[in-house]
Amino acid sequence: MLSLTTYLLLQVTRYLFFDLARIVYIRTMDYDLIVIGAGPGGAITASAAAQAGYRVLILERDAVCKSPCAGYVGLSINIEMPDDCGIKSKISKMRTYFPDLSYHDFPLNGFVVDRPQFDQSLVKKAESAGVHIKWKSPLIDLVPGGVRFPGGAASGKIIVGSDGVFSKTSSLLGIKKQRAAFCAQYHMNGMEPLHNTSEIFFDADYAPGGYVWIYPTGPDSANVGLGITISGSKSPHEYLDAFIEESDISGRLDGEISKYIAGALPISGLREKLVYDNILLVGDSAGMADPVTGAGINSAMLAGEVAGNVIIRALKHDDMMLLGQYETRVRRLLARPLARSLEKRNKLDEYCTQNELLQQHLPELWVTFGQYWE
Ligand SMILES: Cc1cc2nc3c(=O)[nH]c(=O)nc-3n(C[C@H](O)[C@H](O)[C@H](O)COP(=O)(O)OP(=O)(O)OC[C@H]3O[C@@H](n4cnc5c(N)ncnc54)[C@H](O)[C@@H]3O)c2cc1C
Repeated sequence: MLSLTTYLLLQVTRYLFFDLARIVYIRTMDYDLIVIGAGPGGAITASAAAQAGYRVLILERDAVCKSPCAGYVGLSINIEMPDDCGIKSKISKMRTYFPDLSYHDFPLNGFVVDRPQFDQSLVKKAESAGVHIKWKSPLIDLVPGGVRFPGGAASGKIIVGSDGVFSKTSSLLGIKKQRAAFCAQYHMNGMEPLHNTSEIFFDADYAPGGYVWIYPTGPDSANVGLGITISGSKSPHEYLDAFIEESDISGRLDGEISKYIAGALPISGLREKLVYDNILLVGDSAGMADPVTGAGINSAMLAGEVAGNVIIRALKHDDMMLLGQYETRVRRLLARPLARSLEKRNKLDEYCTQNELLQQHLPELWVTFGQYWE
């Protein structure tokens, strides 16, 4: 048996050794910027800083990019898309269905992408700009001057939390959890989606608080999914099966299911604060997805671009106070549309359990109607 003194000596040696090893390791992994999460927000931020010559590390929890998504990317922002970004179909119209299946058409300009391929292409672009990416490396802890992940640590002057709706960065900062919509989606082959059209169905019986979507991925395939915000009698997966099997359009949805995904997105609007000393929040971790439509790719990319530019300035002038400009600039771009959408979200919560109310109020609540903007 070990004596108490030997035991204590062993413990002290272990801690000393561990700390020494950590200090040496931290010194060897030294970055200007550490980005948590390799989604669109993180990849764009990282690319911008690396292109300006700074040392950038991305820590990604998973082995590959696999954010669940319907894949719609609007052409409303001026960010250069990589060539191999996985475009599946062009979208020129959104058709929104009321509960009685009457509908309203609105012109759109965007495309549906294979989302993992889209994200991977942004990461590839970041890597070719010099970003170092560590896959299967979830953030475990924020420590003074850096981060810890399984089996290692890294130091960085600036940290960006772009780690999605359930952001570990945010929870380590002690910020409150965001309200989320929960989604389920099938990729279906052997069905005929409307050409170049995204279809949106509002029906309290199948998607309480949210909606069902069909996004074509080709002439005979589509992403068919839904999001819910109210916990009803079923899981999102069960609601989706019910829509496909029982709804009035089920005849159009008798294709073969090739893939199932599930995920969540934030619906509580832009967070109150986006900058915490040298830590910035970008994308879903900052509540940038639209609380009604759920769209968040463009805002994450836009915020990533702004974050990248502000970070470059802060590093160039070695002045972390400049990071506050990220908050000002992003609020100027996103605060008003997200606040309007949050207001609509609160109304939708009131009306979403009854189809009569949805039928009556939908034009005030959905972005393609003129009444939404009044
Ligand atoms: C089913 C579904 C469909 C959607 N469809 C659309 C759509 O058609 N169009 C649209 O615009 N938006 C859509 N969205 C929303 C959109 O996916 C998000 O708004 C967008 O991905 C936000 O980008 P992001 O970079 O902030 O975060 P994400 O894309 O969520 O990326 C976060 C990354 O962080 C990683 N990560 C998480 N935790 C850690 C950790 N501890 N350490 C390291 N890495 C971590 C994750 O693995 C992930 O790669 C959809 C969402 C869902 C759930």
